[in-house]
Amino acid sequence: MHSADTRHQYIEPLEAAGRRSVAEARRVVVKVGSSSLTTPDGLIDAGRIRDLVEVVAARRALGQEVILVSSGAVAAGMTPLGMVRRPRDLASQQAAASVGQGLLVASYTAELAGHGLTAAQVLLTVEDMMRRVQHRNSQRTLRRLLDIGAVPIVNENDTVATHEIRFGDNDRLAALVAHLMRADALVLLSDVDALYDGNPADEGTSVVRLVRGSTDLDGIDIGSTGKRGVGTGGMVTKVDSARIATEAGVHTVLTSAANARDALAGERVGTFFAPADGRRPSARQLWLAHATAGRGSLVLDPGAVRAVVEEKASLLPAGVVKVHGEFSAGDPVDLRDESGTVVARGLVNYDAAEVPDLMGRSTRWLAREMGPTYERELVHRDDLVLL
Ligand code: GLU
Repeated sequence: MHSADTRHQYIEPLEAAGRRSVAEARRVVVKVGSSSLTTPDGLIDAGRIRDLVEVVAARRALGQEVILVSSGAVAAGMTPLGMVRRPRDLASQQAAASVGQGLLVASYTAELAGHGLTAAQVLLTVEDMMRRVQHRNSQRTLRRLLDIGAVPIVNENDTVATHEIRFGDNDRLAALVAHLMRADALVLLSDVDALYDGNPADEGTSVVRLVRGSTDLDGIDIGSTGKRGVGTGGMVTKVDSARIATEAGVHTVLTSAANARDALAGERVGTFFAPADGRRPSARQLWLAHATAGRGSLVLDPGAVRAVVEEKASLLPAGVVKVHGEFSAGDPVDLRDESGTVVARGLVNYDAAEVPDLMGRSTRWLAREMGPTYERELVHRDDLVLL
């Protein structure tokens, strides 16, 4: 049976140590999805918010810093607007979110106050995570909030951004916040108790307790392992988020809201994703790799592929042989080899229309013939991530 007693099973030292790191985390990000906060008809369930806040308060009492990333704004806005079903069109979802966000934070504020804690609303977008100024500002605000003992309640700023409404139910946002704040642990709570190695409804399917790296997921059709409800995440974005977080060195647990207390205490519930070792990538690199799609692509000659992939160099116009798509300077573009394989993604410094005149030219020639502003790289190393 899925919920088999796991107490007497052998636990890999990596998992045991990782679970302990979650329990002992100095700073933890807890993400809760809409489906865990709502009644079956999609309305906000006050009891569930109370239960969650109780868990958060207990962790705070142990001296941990907790950042809560909470969805539920769309759901909370439905009743006041007389909507019986979650609206399908984006504008209505955004409208519902702007009605619901205030109500959602009001209930967190009231519940946290019952434990002597202060709630702080923080609205972010995935893009904020990568623009230098916004990145620094949100980091500073969150740090200050933690210093003064508040509990940040983060949600996507649905009025201006719709990424998480459409693709993630805040899953990616939570992983990026965990990275931004150098959190030690991320706990992703939803209505599924763990990742399974198949459809949980099928005979013989079992829980995956430990994911050491992406090879542990080989052969699992992640799309078939979850169920869809009020939220928009599904299992794919959850596993994706776990991957972003672990790449950033964050211990990650994926489980149900009902298991929140145990997960945060380091008990063996849900699925544990071990952090990758090595250097933490920049927030911008994580965003490029996980939260963007190329608006077009640049095809590189073999020398440029080698320079970018092996020598970690910037991409210069000299190494480009073809350009595809309509993009503007500052957009993310895919860098492909001549067989079409995407080898990297980066923020391009020129409009698509400018590229044909630059291709194959040395930066020295460009500076001399076209002026000093053309001496810049096509894609700078710092704005580039290998895929
Ligand atoms: N930010 C949205 C909310 O809080 C995302 C969740 C969703 O797509 O359900 O409602």
